[in-house]
Amino acid sequence: MNQHTLETVVTAVKMDQSGYWHTLENSPFYAEGGGQPADRGWIGSHEVLDIQLIEGEVRHLLHESLPIGTTVEARIDEDVRRDHSIQHTAQHLLTAILEDRHGIRTLSFGIGSADSSIEIETTTMDWSLINALEHELQQLVYENRPIHVYEIPEEEVDRTRLRKATDRMGMIRIVEIEGIDYNACGGTHVGTTGQLGTIHVTAMKKVRGNIRLTYVAGNRAIEAIQQAREALRSIHHTFSTTNESVAERVIEEHTIRLEREKEIKTLEERIAKAKVEAVLKEDNYVALHVGRTEAETLTIAIIERIAATGRIAVGANYGTQKLFVMHDGTHDIAVGKFLKTALQEMQIGRGGGNHKQAQARFTSVSELERGMEEIVRRLQEGVLSC
Ligand SMILES: [Zn+2]
Repeated sequence: MNQHTLETVVTAVKMDQSGYWHTLENSPFYAEGGGQPADRGWIGSHEVLDIQLIEGEVRHLLHESLPIGTTVEARIDEDVRRDHSIQHTAQHLLTAILEDRHGIRTLSFGIGSADSSIEIETTTMDWSLINALEHELQQLVYENRPIHVYEIPEEEVDRTRLRKATDRMGMIRIVEIEGIDYNACGGTHVGTTGQLGTIHVTAMKKVRGNIRLTYVAGNRAIEAIQQAREALRSIHHTFSTTNESVAERVIEEHTIRLEREKEIKTLEERIAKAKVEAVLKEDNYVALHVGRTEAETLTIAIIERIAATGRIAVGANYGTQKLFVMHDGTHDIAVGKFLKTALQEMQIGRGGGNHKQAQARFTSVSELERGMEEIVRRLQEGVLSC
């Protein structure tokens, strides 16, 4: 037995849709609360799925029900406890330094299973200030300041030093980081600031006119840095860049891409115009356009133009193996229904649509060609017989 293990007795079990909530005579577990997630661990050989404080009782969720009166060994998952304690203690430091050295108040915080965040009362925060803040925090880690946790009667609490006023009564649990913080807090903490390893801010976002900082500490900080390095490495591999050149290069590539897209759009418009003109020279009610190599967007743009002239436009795109049928609404034929029925009768492709436009998808180019010929034939017959 150590501080993370406790022999105790099951005193009550309540069932709901999540499972069986067990109450123990004594619980070593931390229940979710105060912005910190619940501990993880085991009761006997059963994994504890959740721990909540309900009606003043710590209740432990298990998949199965244990008989009341059973003596059990309750064991905290030490890794998860240490991790939560690190993230939570890091929040104390962040809040203290932001308030005492930068005059920025913390409004709320949450310790997450992946990352944690604090909402701070400011509209002006930039990354150079974050860099400076991280150095200040790291200095406190190096100083390895002791963290004392103790309970004192409410009248002995030095309320002028309290980080945040408390309305708790009776015995108050104080968490004191030497020279940094004096706080009424019920969460779990590490013993010294050195155990935090490092505190790393990963994101900054404006919320409700304030700023939300997302951060990680300890092993989570190492993992976040490794993840960022991995992402950068793949970019460096593709663009032959370095950490120093990557930002400029990516912006340059993005600008080039935007210019190319503009050029492509202009070219596509020209092509569409030429193709439409060619189709319109033929005096057909049903006009077919076949796009063998072009993008689907161009095929659609072309048949939209054709449909706008009052014809029934059929467009095939070989790349996506799709067929489009469209008219301007002046024809009686509901192309969606027509296409769906025709495909069912041919037993190829799948598709449908509404009165004015429809599309179908085929599994091969040869199916697309077969479908296209038959659809055009049926449309021509239908239109001619009107
Ligand atoms: Zn705390």
